[in-house]
Amino acid sequence: MKMLIDGEFIDKNEHYDVINPYDGELIDTIPIADKGDVNKAIDAARKAQKSLNCLSSKQVSENLFDACEELSSCADEIASLIVLEAGKPYKAAVAEVNRSIETLRFTSEEAKRIYGESIPLDATGSADERFMAFTQKIPLGVVAAITPFNFPVNLALHKIAPAIAAKNAVVMKPSKEAPLAALRLAEIINNHFDDGVINAVTGYGSEIGDALIYSPDIAKISFTGSVATGMYIASHAASKKLTLELGGNDPLIVLEDADIEKAVDEAVTGAFTFSGQICCGVKRIILDNKVADEFIDLLIEKTSRLKIGNPMDESTDIGPVINKEAALNIEEVVNNSIRDGAELLLGGERRDCIIEPTILDNVNMSMEVVAYETFGPVAPILRVEGLDEAIEVANNTQYGLQAGVFTENVHSALRCANEIEAGTVYVNKAPSYRVDSMPFGGFKSSGTGKEGIKYAIEDMCRTKLIAFNRN
Ligand code: NAD
Repeated sequence: MKMLIDGEFIDKNEHYDVINPYDGELIDTIPIADKGDVNKAIDAARKAQKSLNCLSSKQVSENLFDACEELSSCADEIASLIVLEAGKPYKAAVAEVNRSIETLRFTSEEAKRIYGESIPLDATGSADERFMAFTQKIPLGVVAAITPFNFPVNLALHKIAPAIAAKNAVVMKPSKEAPLAALRLAEIINNHFDDGVINAVTGYGSEIGDALIYSPDIAKISFTGSVATGMYIASHAASKKLTLELGGNDPLIVLEDADIEKAVDEAVTGAFTFSGQICCGVKRIILDNKVADEFIDLLIEKTSRLKIGNPMDESTDIGPVINKEAALNIEEVVNNSIRDGAELLLGGERRDCIIEPTILDNVNMSMEVVAYETFGPVAPILRVEGLDEAIEVANNTQYGLQAGVFTENVHSALRCANEIEAGTVYVNKAPSYRVDSMPFGGFKSSGTGKEGIKYAIEDMCRTKLIAFNRN
């Protein structure tokens, strides 16, 4: 596949290989952009933004809706690309594409609801002046969208669609590991807007990243990815508007009065969907000792039923992680935690890029597996005595994306809701749940700013005050 700059599909002499993590086969080669290509894309976006800004909101909404219809008609093709490049099990890839269709439809509706407000300047101004004043939400200009491998289409759309709804042009940089479905998405969006409204540059994150970060024509960087890359961007792009959706280490707390069966079902989905490679997946299971054994027995039973295999197979639950390096790293982290005293209850084995769903008991917060985000199919269990310790352990991390608590006691639920430091706290629901109407984004090292269509659009605008002196 080729890059998309100013409506043209551009190739380069230098390429890198996109490899299927399940069987190691070559899927495609992708051009490696240099700084000059990025600058061309930014330039095209800058020019296209001016014409986009002249479209009515109704027209922008209709174009987004048409793109949504086209995406819908290519759903299976795009889901298959996600399976091939990211190793995502087919049913999860289909779910991602369906989610993306909804994201685009939701954004086309929201594009018609970008409101300012009337401002009572006489509330504090000089009594002699009588103003009529209001704010307008206006576009920022050109937005850079930098996205990770794990939801290559949906997370790209969470940036591109709100940016365009607010009449910004976009330069996107898809994940190096999983660029194919994102490039098809860019092509689809491009079919419904003027050339240059959406551009996609491929290649090395650091080179493209720096060209975007240091360009005076990029007004905002919307980034989703690891804490390390997010912190690099934040420290080098101080003058730009930033949205950073970063890593997580989400706790699922199960208290003594929880519905255990329900909590286990949610833990299995939250910890093992897409081999645990979900930012807001369940990364730590915090169990009250009184129910720990009952929970663990059921967790082992239900996890053992997950089917490991070829992600293209519709019945597969667990496929590979994104590449060999990631698989080796997860294996090492698991082995280190066993060396440090954790007990292996299930899994732990690696075959090429596949890691068996792994359950570890007697984990504590000093172990690497929970001290940092482990982006793999690993469910570490931390045992606690009661609610106070559960909250303390939940908060004992640099991350704060989502959290969940299972309890039938409203007072315990309220304490968790109030005291856990996370962007979302669910009661009787595990982390990893996300819909487009909610504000999504983490506290602490998990990021800054919110996505979710309405909130993302707000962050894709500047506020201008217009005031008429009526004296
Ligand atoms: P990553 O940080 O390695 O890469 C993300 C993107 O940044 C890629 O496109 C990459 O090429 C680019 N990049 C790399 N170096 C760069 C640089 N110096 N400047 C600019 N861009 C650069 O992340 P990943 O491995 O693709 O994704 C996994 C991570 O993403 C996990 O930590 C996960 O928790 C996080 N994530 C967060 C959310 C969220 O919404 N909070 C969602 C999904 C994934």
